[in-house]
Parts: sequence; C-alpha cells; structure tokens
Amino acid sequence: MYDRSTRWHDAPGAYPDPAVVQTDPRFADLILPFARIERIAGGCRWTEGPVWFGDQRCLVWSDIPNNRIMKWDEQSGEVSVWRRPSDNANGGTRDAAGRLVTCEHRTRRVTRTEYDGSITVLADAFEGRRLNSPNDVTVAPDGSLWFTDPTYGILGDYEGRRAEPEIATAVYRIDPDGGEPTRMVTGPVQPNGLCFSPDGATFYLVDTGVRPGLIYAYPYADGTLGEPRRFCVMEGGSSDGIACDAVGNVWAAAQGDDGYRGVHVFAPDGTDIGRLLLPEQCSNVEFGGLLRNRLFMTASQSVYSLYVNVSGA
Ligand code: MG
Repeated sequence: MYDRSTRWHDAPGAYPDPAVVQTDPRFADLILPFARIERIAGGCRWTEGPVWFGDQRCLVWSDIPNNRIMKWDEQSGEVSVWRRPSDNANGGTRDAAGRLVTCEHRTRRVTRTEYDGSITVLADAFEGRRLNSPNDVTVAPDGSLWFTDPTYGILGDYEGRRAEPEIATAVYRIDPDGGEPTRMVTGPVQPNGLCFSPDGATFYLVDTGVRPGLIYAYPYADGTLGEPRRFCVMEGGSSDGIACDAVGNVWAAAQGDDGYRGVHVFAPDGTDIGRLLLPEQCSNVEFGGLLRNRLFMTASQSVYSLYVNVSGA
C-alpha cells in the first residue's frame, strides 16, 4: 500500500521543497513555499494518461505495459485497478460532456467510455488505413477532440503489438458530432503531448521524435491552425505530455538525466521559469483536486502530486 503522505525524497522537513526549482522570478507566483511533492502511487510499469474526475474525487491513469487503467481515490488514498484489460491504453481526457476518452495502443484507436461503462470507438482509421497508435488526446475550444498518432505503440510488443505503420504520423481532429477524423498536422516526427492555451488562441504540440525534444506553438483561430513556431527546446532530453495552467504557462513532462527529469514550466513566451524534479522519468501531467490546483504527474512506475498556486486551464 502507498501512504499518501509518503515523500519520495530526503530532507522531509525542508521547505521550500528542494525538488521545486525556480529558474525565473515568474515561477514564484505559481508555487506554494510550504507544499511538497508527494508520491501517491507506485508499483506500475509505465504510467501515463492522468485524468482527473472531480465528481468522483479520483485520478485515473494508464499503466501501459500492465494493460490496465488505475485509480487513486483522493479521500482514502487507496489505489485500485479501474479497468483491465485496457488494450494498452495511453493518454486520456474527458470530453465536453465529462466522459472519459482514451487512446489505445493495442487496438490502435480512440474510444469513449459512456456513462454506463460501454465503450464507443471514435476513431481507428484515416482514409481506410489503420491509425498507428493514438498516444494523447485533448479537447479543443470548439469541443472537438484532437489526438496524436505516433508509432510508439506498434514498435514492439511491450506497450502494444508490433506492426508496420500504414500511415504517416499526424494529429487528428474528431468532430463533436463524430464521423471520420480530419488530419490537422503532419510534419513532426513523433507528435505526442498536446494542449490548447486557456484563451484558445494557441495549440501546443510536442515532438518526441527528435533530440533534443521540441514543443511547437501553432496559432489557432476559427478551427484552423497557422504556421507553427518553436515554442521551446527540451535541451536535456525530451518532453511527453503537457498541460496549460489558467494563466497560460505550459507544464511539460520532462525526460532526461537526474536534475532534468520531472516537469518543466514554460511561460507563454517560451521562457523556462521553473522545474519540479522527480526521481523517475515523467510522462504526463494533469491538474486536479477540488480547486484544480493540484498537479498530478505520471512518472515511470509511480504517480506524484504537488499543490500549486495556480489552477489548470
Ligand atoms: Mg505521450
């Protein structure tokens, strides 16, 4: 069992938390000097896809190689299996109606879990060819679902099933009314994490297929994307999942060496303003908690959390 008060690092009495590192004065407004990073779950193989359910006060996340979706209850601190098998589920989100939307590697599709628990397939092909392995998904300002489709889930049999790609990697949009997905982005080698800015004017997209990893920013208006710019470079490695806070900062999972891995926070102008250092490679982030001011971080075998002084977008 995992005690929700368990701290993963040394110096438990030290405040501020030495694993919360400011690299720009703007970061001071976002953190709480008396909050510490907590490890709330462990025992997984590769955690991803954190999704907060405020109505149930729980976090669900994917344990991809173990073919299951896990659940952490905020009130009891209890960790349990929420769905197994999960078809090697990866990233997830909640749609405009609050239903869980899941990217599945093994079945190479994006699905929605209805209120009664049944599963509806939202996308599994484009122009008659199978998707590669949907990785992460977010809700756009117009209520459509945008997902990335890199090849990670078909490169081997650990996080999916090995297969030859049938189409190029891309980002797709699923209309709120359903139907065939629309291809929105091609170009990035392995499109991965994605999110929209809180004002809806910028679409952020992570490319994990290059080193160092990149995050692009695309202007977005009236359902269309403009020319991308390099928002930031992940100098020490790569990102993966990302999320915006309510004032437009980008909280990006970071994978790399000790002292780099964790979460890096970028101001809207792309400046690296702070870091949360974790002992494991971080795959994704999600704002949750009653006031959405608690950051959850899926990282390798564990899940971590930190109360922050800002809420999620
Ligand atoms: Mg990902």
